[in-house]
Amino acid sequence: MTAIETKTFTANDADAAKSWPFQEARRLIRRMERVKKKDPVIFETGYGPSGLPHIGTFQEVARTTMVRRAFELLTGRETKLICFSDDMDGLRKVPDNIPNREMLAQYCEEGNPNGGWIRFGTPVSDIPDPFGCCESFAAHNNKKLRNFLDSFGFEYEFISAAQKYKSGQFDDAIKLILKKYDEIRAIVLPTLGVERQHTYSPILPIGNHDGLGKSSERAQVIHCARIVDKGVGDGQVLLQSFDQAGMPIGKPFVHNILSGGCKLQWKVDWGMRWFALGVDYEMAGEDLTESTKLSSRIVRALGGEPPEGFNFQLFLDEHGKKISKSKGNGISIDEWLTYASPESLAFYGYQAPKKAKKLYFDVIPKTVDEYWTWVQKYRDQEGEKALDNPVWHVHQGKPPVDAPPVSFALLLNLVSASGSADPNVLRGFVKKYRPDASEAELAATDAMIAFAGRYFDDFIKPHKKFRAPDAGERAALEMLSARLKELGDGLEENDYQTAVFDAGKAQNYENIRDWFKGLYEVVFGQSDGPRMGAFTRIFGAAATAKLIDEALARA
Ligand SMILES: [Zn+2]
Repeated sequence: MTAIETKTFTANDADAAKSWPFQEARRLIRRMERVKKKDPVIFETGYGPSGLPHIGTFQEVARTTMVRRAFELLTGRETKLICFSDDMDGLRKVPDNIPNREMLAQYCEEGNPNGGWIRFGTPVSDIPDPFGCCESFAAHNNKKLRNFLDSFGFEYEFISAAQKYKSGQFDDAIKLILKKYDEIRAIVLPTLGVERQHTYSPILPIGNHDGLGKSSERAQVIHCARIVDKGVGDGQVLLQSFDQAGMPIGKPFVHNILSGGCKLQWKVDWGMRWFALGVDYEMAGEDLTESTKLSSRIVRALGGEPPEGFNFQLFLDEHGKKISKSKGNGISIDEWLTYASPESLAFYGYQAPKKAKKLYFDVIPKTVDEYWTWVQKYRDQEGEKALDNPVWHVHQGKPPVDAPPVSFALLLNLVSASGSADPNVLRGFVKKYRPDASEAELAATDAMIAFAGRYFDDFIKPHKKFRAPDAGERAALEMLSARLKELGDGLEENDYQTAVFDAGKAQNYENIRDWFKGLYEVVFGQSDGPRMGAFTRIFGAAATAKLIDEALARA
């Protein structure tokens, strides 16, 4: 069991905290003063269930939880986080990496060359599970999402759109949308192209036909029919389909839009959901900035007030392109968790969410080391300093006490130098280096050792390139090797560091950094490396000298 660092905070501490989740929480406090509603205060994150949960899903829930906990500390109010799955949506595109793609394709929207539709997508909640294990495709993805969120210990209430629509729990809100149908259409139309304006409806009927008279075995979310008479009866409306030139096509049809007979177009759906579920806080990616504004106008038209929140920047892949779940570029959550802990990933997401940052394999070692540095700092911090420490947010106020006594970078170099990722060998080094390390600290190290071994195999080993030393480097390396043998094991880091410096100075390097760079390239096959004093202390002076001798013999 990991020991937890518990601290108590006063109201003054919380008021003085400046980190972004506290700033967000204060904006939410001002909203709550305006809307004057009863607890719980509702936080929401949304999820499109046509794909699998991904790194963006994780970050959104993690960041929202950070604001939630800061808000609770500031106000003591009761809160709830809703994870909403938009599983009434029609399938637009068969996602990659899914079995039975041909089966799925039959349920997928299909366009025609003039920009219209041959058929519309079936709600994902009505599509069979391509994995063959659940009630529907949506049920499969919803289960994945919940398992995923549970595995990180998030606290939330799961809501399925299909369940809400079909049970009639959204009916009152849908009736209100129907009442404000023209007003909402007028809000959305200016944002659409002329052709789409003709077919656009905030309410999308769901039926076993295509809206043009052709029936189908499976339900379709019809995108070309507008309501032409809302007063036919309780929930019954008269619809007419239009083509992109604005000409009516097919016959008008009567349709019941209640209890699962429709879904709302997604921007309207978003606004309706804020209204019906009483959402007080929701953040979204910067790609949804315009949609957020539009949905805010829609919720106002319904008589509600949009939630607080902000638009975070999307992560970038190794080429500086935005990471998109449909393209599958960048790094996946499983990939990150192969080389580092979920806490390190949450820590990465905590940092500057309004700045576009690269999220790729090469940020992992630095991120892990910074994370542990903050864990160590937290022990000695009090008051607002502790509240502004990223690990207070990452761990929802309960960061661990024990940190590994070595860095990820140093472990990587030990693996590299010793040629072994054997946990016993590495643990032996760490124990020799820090004989006073506690069992808990060594346990924290063990977890990191496993990650370092994999990271080394996949990212460092393939790129190692040893080069021959020039005459100056050879002389300096020979001098260093001899000196280390003389000093022997068991001295302080600084003694070894001085020996390395002296060997460089003897060769009159103009910039001592060139000496270090050369040393890394010749001895480690990398252009940067560990602080040599620390490395020598932990790896052993004699062993380091041997490493140097081998490099010289190889050249
Ligand atoms: Zn399944």
